Amino acid sequence: MSKIRKRVLVTGGAGFLGSHLCDRLVAQGHDVLCVDNYFTGRKENILHLMEKPNFEVMRHDITFPLYVEVDEIYNLACPASPVHYQYDPVQTTKVSVLGSINMLGLAKRVGARILQASTSEIYGDPTVHPQTEDYCGNVNPLGPRACYDEGKRCAETLFFDYSRRHNVKIRVIRIFNTYGPRLHDSDGRVVSNFIVQALRGDNITIYGDGQQTRAFCYVDDLIDGMLAMMGADEDVPGPINIGNPHEISMLTLADRIIALTGAKSRLVRRPLPQNDPTQRCPDITRARQLLNWEPKVPLDEGLRRTIAYFAERMPEAAATARA
Ligand code: NAD
Ligand code: UDP
Ligand code: UDP
Repeated sequence: MSKIRKRVLVTGGAGFLGSHLCDRLVAQGHDVLCVDNYFTGRKENILHLMEKPNFEVMRHDITFPLYVEVDEIYNLACPASPVHYQYDPVQTTKVSVLGSINMLGLAKRVGARILQASTSEIYGDPTVHPQTEDYCGNVNPLGPRACYDEGKRCAETLFFDYSRRHNVKIRVIRIFNTYGPRLHDSDGRVVSNFIVQALRGDNITIYGDGQQTRAFCYVDDLIDGMLAMMGADEDVPGPINIGNPHEISMLTLADRIIALTGAKSRLVRRPLPQNDPTQRCPDITRARQLLNWEPKVPLDEGLRRTIAYFAERMPEAAATARA
């Protein structure tokens, strides 16, 4: 139970990260308002919170204005998987740009502190490795990922302009690939794809040669970092990278998931999507120094917990895979 009870708005609160954040804030005793239009979020993710007296849900699209009275805002609303954010690219840019303007306008009116869930995608296909926060990135503004990358870049610009111009108290974190229970089984992200394929005994789809790298952070660690950032002293607006610096190739990830599920799946090659970054890994020196934060859950442990979540949802598939 937190000492000070706050009114906290979480946009995108029915999504993967948002629902875990709501869990933690509700457990701390805050009054939590979850706002979501259910584009990629699911009621199922927050069903267990519905009976809590300090939790409330509002179906709302943040590209439209929102008038509520809150002390803190976590702005997470935005589809995060390439499959979902490319489904309606104009809406994706609108969520980041118009949605951020509305949430910043709200923060300005009520004097709330506001945290933006930015992304490692603002670095694009990076030429600096690992990525530090002062690297300005290498994004193709015309490619299929641009609706997400450029939308998030513009959102960062808006956050810093509202801070400079209107003294809004901002926090910007750049989240690197995060995984865990409540990832959507059909959202196309690599960890959920590989686990679902392994549990069904299907082929594992490696895009390109599988040598491209990512660094995967377990969701509990990520939420610790997000809460630490919101609670940090006045002079830490960010941006700060939040992620796990354990970098692996997609081939290695597939191997680990096959080993941990005991699946008989084979690897199959599929074309590499356009502008797919070849390598990505956070430099988390700033997070360590300023937030005293670093991830704790090792990859195999996080994968075990995530596999258990999916196996519980699809028990027949899990049994078939090992048969
Ligand atoms: P998600 O798709 O599970 O959650 C996004 C949520 O936002 C969903 O519940 C969706 O319905 C909601 N939403 C989308 N558009 C909305 C709108 N216009 N109005 C209200 N709600 C809307 O994705 P996630 O993985 O939980 O990501 C959450 C945030 O973190 C996103 O902003 C994403 O860009 C950022 N992020 C995530 C990762 C990651 O690896 N998970 C990495 C970098 C950044
Ligand atoms: N806004 C909102 N909720 C509020 C205050 C503002 O949704 O509580 C929206 C408002 O509709 C506006 C946007 O936030 O379009 C930006 O607000 P700001 O005050 O910065 O700009 P202005 O209203 O002057 O355009
Ligand atoms: N990927 C893959 N097989 C899949 C899904 C994704 O090899 O079934 C690759 C994808 O090409 C990328 C990496 O895994 O190189 C991470 O993809 P994801 O969509 O999870 O995240 P992002 O590309 O946004 O980091």
